[in-house]
Amino acid sequence: MENNNNQGNDDRGFRHSGQTFMILIIAAVITFFVYTLIRGAFVTGVTQEISYTEFVTMVDSDQVEKVEWGDSDITIIPKEGASMPSDSTGEYSPYLNQVDVRYYVVPVGADAQKLVDRMLEHGVVIYKKKPDNSGFIMEALISIVLPFVLIFVVMNMTMRRMGNGNGGIMGVGKSTAKMYMQKETGVTFKDVAGEDEAKESLIEIVDFLHNPTKYTAIGAKLPKGALLVGPPGTGKTLLAKAVAGEAQVPFYSLSGSDFVEMFVGVGASRVRDLFKQATQSAPCIIFIDEIDAIGKTRDTRFGGNEEREQTLNQLLSEMDGFDASKGIMVMGATNRPEILDPALLRPGRFDRRIVVEKPDLKGRVNILKVHAQDVQLDDSVDFNEIALATSGAVGADLANMMNEAAITAVKHGRKKVSQADLFEAVEVVLVGKEKKDRILSQEERRIVSYHEVGHALVSAIQKDAEPVQKITIVPRTMGALGYVMQVPEEEKYLNTKAELHAMLVTFLAGRAAEEIVFDTVTTGAANDIEKATKLARAMVTQYGMSERFGLMGLESQESLYLNTGRTVMNCGDDTATAVDQEVMQVLKSCYEEAKRILSENREALDQIAAFLIERETITGKEFMDILHRIQHPAESADTECV
Ligand code: ADP
Ligand code: MG
Ligand code: ZN
Repeated sequence: MENNNNQGNDDRGFRHSGQTFMILIIAAVITFFVYTLIRGAFVTGVTQEISYTEFVTMVDSDQVEKVEWGDSDITIIPKEGASMPSDSTGEYSPYLNQVDVRYYVVPVGADAQKLVDRMLEHGVVIYKKKPDNSGFIMEALISIVLPFVLIFVVMNMTMRRMGNGNGGIMGVGKSTAKMYMQKETGVTFKDVAGEDEAKESLIEIVDFLHNPTKYTAIGAKLPKGALLVGPPGTGKTLLAKAVAGEAQVPFYSLSGSDFVEMFVGVGASRVRDLFKQATQSAPCIIFIDEIDAIGKTRDTRFGGNEEREQTLNQLLSEMDGFDASKGIMVMGATNRPEILDPALLRPGRFDRRIVVEKPDLKGRVNILKVHAQDVQLDDSVDFNEIALATSGAVGADLANMMNEAAITAVKHGRKKVSQADLFEAVEVVLVGKEKKDRILSQEERRIVSYHEVGHALVSAIQKDAEPVQKITIVPRTMGALGYVMQVPEEEKYLNTKAELHAMLVTFLAGRAAEEIVFDTVTTGAANDIEKATKLARAMVTQYGMSERFGLMGLESQESLYLNTGRTVMNCGDDTATAVDQEVMQVLKSCYEEAKRILSENREALDQIAAFLIERETITGKEFMDILHRIQHPAESADTECV
């Protein structure tokens, strides 16, 4: 492995010329400074120049030990303790006798002879100076060799930092796992609401971790891995933390994507480090979030990914290798279990699968309660009502709604959260915030109004459809120009064919109203059309609800938990064409039905739309009042009398 790393380093150093260039520049600058410093030390500071007069005076007063007679200068070595006459620059330093004193103009001819005689008289030793090459050699050494030495040193240091540090791209993550290690997660099962079945399976795991010997004593093999699967936001990560919190063991957590690096072998080494560390602090939990990032099946149509496969192989072998009886539990979480490699799921690895479902009505109420713990609520709050209005929402959505509601309350200067705040929060999470500054033209408001009332009216008139809660034509940040909020009276797990049909007609009723009233159509129905088509197609291909194809399964959902709606056709091209025709037929007849219903109730359509244009938002009750008055004029006349 080390080899691999080093290889990586080298690759990096030489391939990425940008970095090398930087290093070169740094080395050059350093070299320049060092060179100047050293050069300065050789040339200055130890040599001093004096005048000829001073020199002669020194000789005469017996202060000169010896001289070196050169071609261009005479170097004077003074006697120890010599006191020198001060020159123009001031006093000589006390170190003078350790210093070369130079006299630069060398006398020639008769003058030279005189000087020599004089010096001999005073017992000065005279040498002939050897030609001095040392300066040149030093310079050559410094300017040629030093840069290379420095480059080498700097590069070496950089490499080492990149190779072994935590932060570098090449960080092999020896300590990455540690960074995510938590001694105590602080989360317990109490913080997770509405996932009772999942919690039940996990309680067992907590017990394994608490008491591994209880199981090994009887000869039972402890499970090694558990996989949490479910849609995003249902609390998988939260549950894993809760297990660690309940078992009070360290929690090593890494996300699958942390393992995936651009260099082959890095992920695998991370896996090994992670297990090594975990083994040392057993009992503990190793949690790999979003495990599909590494656990994707190796058998892909699009060719493999060397790095990911190597990481996966390492994970598989580590899972086989460790001793579960010490109390190590590997947990994984994913919302795409169908793409995981079968090898990961076989007994002895992630053999336990814990399904974390979207919460049901009761679950949603409980989740709201958990997140309302620290929130001040007033008496109007009824979680049941909110839970009913949020069918299909997951824990993360509900937590978000609770927070939005609290923020709304603060914005309105209130001390407590009311039911109205909560409903507004539900809308914010589902369709976005109100966009008050988007001004629709009068004509647009009329069209949007008729469109929305079309949906609401058709839904109210068809017996199987759900009642209307609210209609609004205030634009929203997520793109809706208006919408109809429907509230289911109870949680539904099954839909009858009649209900689905009614839904289709309702989806298309917006467009139908536009056509009837304005005799033209707009782009506003795009989303309705998309939803209607998806539903109609599912009825034909998945639910076996068409006469023509009967119970033939023509399409299957690509992903179990992700709501991408992507499907795979399981039929031949001819059949696919026929399916398209069938879907088209269904949509056409539903559209006709919507138009028929609206034409029959034209008066209600006009009146409610007019009311909505005036008010911008009307409640389900106001809507039903108008509808009733028109449907039963006599009755409502009576009520008015009373
Ligand atoms: P997942 O990992 O399934 O995508 P998370 O565990 O990250 O979802 O959940 C995100 C947040 O949503 C949590 O931090 C928590 O606040 C909230 N949440 C989700 N499910 C629940 C639940 N069942 N009970 C309480 N809170 C939940
Ligand atoms: Mg998660
Ligand atoms: Zn619509």
